[in-house]
Amino acid sequence: MPDERVKLLAEFIEPLRVEPGSKVKLARDFDPGYKASFLKKKDGAAILQAGVAVLAEYQARLAAQDTWGVLVCLQALDAGGKDGTIRHVMSGVNPQGVRVSSFKVPSAEELDHDYLWRYAQRLPGRGEIGVFNRSHYEEVLVVRVHPELLDRQKLPAAARGKGMWARRYREINDWEHFLADNGFKVVKLFLNLSKEEQRIRFLRRLDLPEKNWKFSAADARERKYWDDYQAAFSDMLSHTSTEWAPWYVIPADHKWFARICVSSVLAYTLLDIDPRYPVVDAARQDDLAQTKELLEAEAPKGAAADPARAEIAADKQDGQESKRARKQRERMKKVRAELAKAAKSTA
Ligand code: AMP
Ligand code: MG
Repeated sequence: MPDERVKLLAEFIEPLRVEPGSKVKLARDFDPGYKASFLKKKDGAAILQAGVAVLAEYQARLAAQDTWGVLVCLQALDAGGKDGTIRHVMSGVNPQGVRVSSFKVPSAEELDHDYLWRYAQRLPGRGEIGVFNRSHYEEVLVVRVHPELLDRQKLPAAARGKGMWARRYREINDWEHFLADNGFKVVKLFLNLSKEEQRIRFLRRLDLPEKNWKFSAADARERKYWDDYQAAFSDMLSHTSTEWAPWYVIPADHKWFARICVSSVLAYTLLDIDPRYPVVDAARQDDLAQTKELLEAEAPKGAAADPARAEIAADKQDGQESKRARKQRERMKKVRAELAKAAKSTA
């Protein structure tokens, strides 16, 4: 990939990626409060904007090419920032090309099927980006921490007991491998929040009347299971980060930084797919030329045959787009230089 942005983004997100096959212990391996030392909050908005612009452009190409689909799985503990991340990171993309699905406690109908059924129904089509706000990973997280939820899944005895979580990891990995092989990229993001930051965010929800609706007493009760969740997340990351669908652990205590990270992973994914606008073949080009002639012949008296051509030329001269692109590239170059400096000083 000749694009300089791909290299830059790859470097930036590399420390967030869970190496397939590695054994993760969250508390030891990932700091929820991490923010790259060379990035300042005041630069955050500009960098996020750059990511949003890439997403907008590449989502349009993805849709036009209609070959690849992208599934983004967002996992976090309560108050981890999933909703806000989706709102900010996806703010530039065409709503027609994106579908967000939120997964709650399963319904009776859903419990009457295998545990992946409801997720399969919400998969993106080709050309689409599907965002799972919570995902099939709930089936090895909340269901593991609360065995009574497993009771409700009506499984045959042989499907439970020893080895069942290892089996679910394998089944999930196989499912994602199948999707990847068939043109659907699976991007998995875990927003990693600290216990103290969660406490503060809960208190904010209680202190601000307009945030009260977001608070549920059940969320606070779940804090009792904090250590169980950390263990379940660690085990999940250790077993389901694969070459075809790696996990990214996003430091989530600083929202502005988490959003930059998420948008970088998504921008990287799309740049890596590198979707292209379909090229029209020669026969179709002849067709288009003929249609153009017909339309030009219909010009009313005194009107230009093709006013659109003049507009396009004016747009090009205006150079708005390229000026923005140039500024973006310069910004990226600066970040890149800082990255190199930071890498040297830690080496
Ligand atoms: P929220 O995302 O805050 O609206 O909450 C959704 C709730 O649904 C959370 O408490 C999740 O733990 C719960 N949930 C999501 N998926 C499942 C599942 N597969 N089984 C049981 N509970 C789930
Ligand atoms: Mg909730």
